[in-house]
Amino acid sequence: MTTVAFIGLGNMGNPMAANLVKAGHTVHGFDLMPEHLETARTNGVTVMANAVAATKDADVVITMLPAGKHVLSVYEDIAPKLKKGALLIDSSTIDVDSARKAHAIAARHDLLSVDAPVSGGTGGAAAGTLTFMAGGAQAAFEKAEPVLKPMAGRIVHCGDAGAGQAAKICNNMILGISMIGVAEAFVLAEKLGLSHQALFDVASTSSGQCWSLTSYCPVPGPVPNSPANRDYQPGFAAALMLKDLKLSQEAAQQAGAVTPLGAEATQLYALFAALGHGGTDFSGIIKFLRGDPA
Ligand code: NAD
Repeated sequence: MTTVAFIGLGNMGNPMAANLVKAGHTVHGFDLMPEHLETARTNGVTVMANAVAATKDADVVITMLPAGKHVLSVYEDIAPKLKKGALLIDSSTIDVDSARKAHAIAARHDLLSVDAPVSGGTGGAAAGTLTFMAGGAQAAFEKAEPVLKPMAGRIVHCGDAGAGQAAKICNNMILGISMIGVAEAFVLAEKLGLSHQALFDVASTSSGQCWSLTSYCPVPGPVPNSPANRDYQPGFAAALMLKDLKLSQEAAQQAGAVTPLGAEATQLYALFAALGHGGTDFSGIIKFLRGDPA
């Protein structure tokens, strides 16, 4: 079995690493936070003193870190010491520019690389049902696919370096905009005296149908397991939605794409987070749109 190094054992990384252990891989791990290392140890990960020690004997390195600067700094540290031909997979959600720089560092050291951000959240990480969106050369993707499988429900090769990150931020821009659209429709329905259930029954089988409505409904009742039914405990926190929307706007600016609704959604989530709701599920934006007191 493959020796996999896992760097970044937080809310996502730890359950993902645990699934690699369950699949029979030897997993070496490192994180800056001792409590995350303790959880990893309990899950069967061999905990190392630093990123270089965790990765130097690895066939595959997976990073699951907060942002581009963390990924680039770890890559600069570990790349010169890795086995030739080793594969680097970055599953963090980061900006497309940093993702391409990460591929360039790998290429400079004769390493294979894939950007492979995920959708599915901590629930999908624990269940091993994440969707991976991969970018990179075909040979790197083919080497990555069997390693990703124990953590994945679906793996899509989206194109060359950075294409996985591009797919991730485009998808999440749709999600942020569509959640606001669905929430606005429920707020209007309330003012018009239309029940939540009636709007749901019509829109869920009509042209307003979308994931934000049918799987993640922002009002309690119609979709019993949506965060609205547990006072908007995440789920997917508004702060993470804001992070992804900001990445989409950075990318839009750099690429010259016009995304007015993406820009508006970013503003609304920034306001929601500034009011102290960054830890609330992103579907809780309905409370803000309704003008509910905090
Ligand atoms: P997290 O903050 O729980 O975990 C990140 C971990 O990285 C932390 O434990 C931190 O100590 C560690 N870290 C930071 N710098 C490090 C370094 N130099 N060396 C080693 N460890 C380092 O975050 P998370 O929720 O696990 O998210 C990780 C990534 O996955 C982010 O890019 C996020 O946007 C993305 N993501 C998260 C979710 C989600 O629902 N949480 C869903 C999809 C994608």
